Amino acid sequence: MKIYKLKTGYTEFLGALLQKGKNVIAPRFAGRTLLFGKIDKAEEAVLPEKYINTVRSAKEFMFPVTEAVVEFSFRNKDVKIHDAHPEEDEKLIVGLRPCDAAAFTITDDIFNYEYKDEFYLTRRRNAALITFACESIDEACFCTSVGLKPDSIQGSDILFKKNSAGTYIAYVNSEKGQKVIDSVKELFEEVIEVVEDIPLYRDLENKMRSPLDTVKIKEWLDKNFESPLWDEYSSRCLGCGSCAYLCPTCHCFDIVDETKYSQGLRRKNWDACQFPLFTLHASGHNPREVQSKRYRQRVMHKFKYYSDRFNKTLCTGCGRCVRSCPVNLDIYQVVSELTKEETA
Ligand code: SF4
Ligand code: SF4
Repeated sequence: MKIYKLKTGYTEFLGALLQKGKNVIAPRFAGRTLLFGKIDKAEEAVLPEKYINTVRSAKEFMFPVTEAVVEFSFRNKDVKIHDAHPEEDEKLIVGLRPCDAAAFTITDDIFNYEYKDEFYLTRRRNAALITFACESIDEACFCTSVGLKPDSIQGSDILFKKNSAGTYIAYVNSEKGQKVIDSVKELFEEVIEVVEDIPLYRDLENKMRSPLDTVKIKEWLDKNFESPLWDEYSSRCLGCGSCAYLCPTCHCFDIVDETKYSQGLRRKNWDACQFPLFTLHASGHNPREVQSKRYRQRVMHKFKYYSDRFNKTLCTGCGRCVRSCPVNLDIYQVVSELTKEETA
């Protein structure tokens, strides 16, 4: 792995990328909400030390909230179908946190599993992920419970960390990352000696909520699909879906046909297991007819089903679902408390 020292600050780095004509996506304010978005000037981007994380993750740049996958038109029995195609432009997604970069390693597995989703995969091929290690956390964060740290490199093409002098050090983790460095190489100097990180990263790691025992959680879930505790723990869930929409690893979608006169689009829209319609059959039967079953599905998918298939947890501990839940349902707390209960 090559390591470089950034000779300037963050804003100058973004400015240089923009000057080279790069398409830069970075955290910036949309009103009062911090979101990833395309920036035209480096100053629009918020400095990495000024935020814990964005409100929404960057997953929408690979898997948009809504997109057309097929276009069609018809006249009587004459139907014409055209495939839609994802945009091919290259993107630099800058200012990610390690939990969000790691989330793409999870969605990569999913969209590349039995069905290869070319919409996701094309965008993913064309995107470089440039991560900045966390300099602060809050009470919602729990990345250390799922094998990550405030300065993890999983999923990043480049990880920036500060050294003890406060200079950004770039750890290049892929060819894509190297190309980004090469494109603005006048800003970088290769580092040969061992770099001493700021102690802050370890301090943050130690301050994080105590790690979950994901093996024990999985064992409990394996045995307790029918536990009455699901009703107790999910009784206040409103089914609003906020947790799923903000989660960087949730990836459910629905396909709908929208027509206007003789033309139409087949759309892929984000959907969520917290909604009753998600599992409603055409017959009227709904296998998850009550919210407790829908909440159980969320927890089971995160900590059991995904692990059964990929041997990983479908969660990077980013804390968004904890921060956003209008009724303070905290998935970390729920799984910690559930597993203290006797198994059935
Ligand atoms: S389940 Fe919650 S904490 Fe885990 S990745 Fe999703 S939003 Fe983040
Ligand atoms: S955000 Fe909270 S209330 Fe809304 S669906 Fe998720 S757990 Fe339920």
